Amino acid sequence: MRQVAIIGAGQMGSGIAQTVAQNGMQVLLSDIDLAVAEKAKSGIDAAFGKLVGRGKIEIADADAYLARITPVADNAALADAELIIEAATEQEPIKKAIFEAAGKFLSDGAIMASNTSSIPITRMANYAPDPARFIGLHFFNPVPVMGLIEVIPGLATAQETTDRITAFAEGLGKQVVLSQDEPGFVVNRILLPMINEAIFVLGQSTANTADIDKGCRLGLNHPMGPLQLADFVGLDTCFEIIKVLYDTTGDSKYRPAPLLVKYVEAGWLGRKTGRGFYDYSGEAPVPTR
Ligand code: NAD
Repeated sequence: MRQVAIIGAGQMGSGIAQTVAQNGMQVLLSDIDLAVAEKAKSGIDAAFGKLVGRGKIEIADADAYLARITPVADNAALADAELIIEAATEQEPIKKAIFEAAGKFLSDGAIMASNTSSIPITRMANYAPDPARFIGLHFFNPVPVMGLIEVIPGLATAQETTDRITAFAEGLGKQVVLSQDEPGFVVNRILLPMINEAIFVLGQSTANTADIDKGCRLGLNHPMGPLQLADFVGLDTCFEIIKVLYDTTGDSKYRPAPLLVKYVEAGWLGRKTGRGFYDYSGEAPVPTR
């Protein structure tokens, strides 16, 4: 692929844009307005700056990668893309509106993919112009660092679409896990109940934030605890995923922890807002409970 469009320039869209540009492709980056996409490009510039500072990449390469990323305001620009990746907020009405609006400019043969963490691909394919060319392409956070991508064909996805997207994902230097279109796919189906349960444990004051995370780091040999990971993912995104698991299965084991609901209502969404289960305003994160 030569040119990839990314809609939604938050933490995932930015990471995807950085990774795609680093792998030699042109990137069109859009968000609710041009200013957000431009701010995301500045953030990617800063990320490249850090990599240069650590001697991981050359400054000339960083400049070349950054030059491949073009913030765009208008959906019409997406007509040049061979692949459109939607990475906007995890809410189906938002994604539906994006697929319908951007779908008008999906060129012949181009693929539309969603980075959704949990919303059924088969259902969302109906919002796209051609369900055979619609697929789930689930990156992990932070995208430039994490080695996995889940590929999720919907019921109507053509085998050719799955093959092309798998080749694209592998071309980014990632390993691919193929998942059927079941709630939460593979990794989040396993991860989110654990995060949700950790929040129940915190809400019931069984242990404090630091000890819950310490317990899982040392007792399970996880690189970070579930509450810290939830902050990384974004508590709004965690809430949306667990809600999809609950709504699509009707299984009470997926009911969202009341404390998670409260944090989302308070706007404490984790690292991206500076406060979640940890406070990120100082040099090191400090547990808030
Ligand atoms: P985020 O809140 O950091 O970014 C979401 C972005 O979408 C924001 O910049 C927002 O302005 C933009 N947006 C909202 N409405 C839009 C619209 N109508 N048009 C264009 N842009 C719009 O969230 P995120 O963590 O980057 O998550 C984005 C998607 O990636 C979600 O579907 C999420 O489930 C998925 N995802 C997240 C993670 C994670 O760890 N955070 C991992 C894998 C997948």
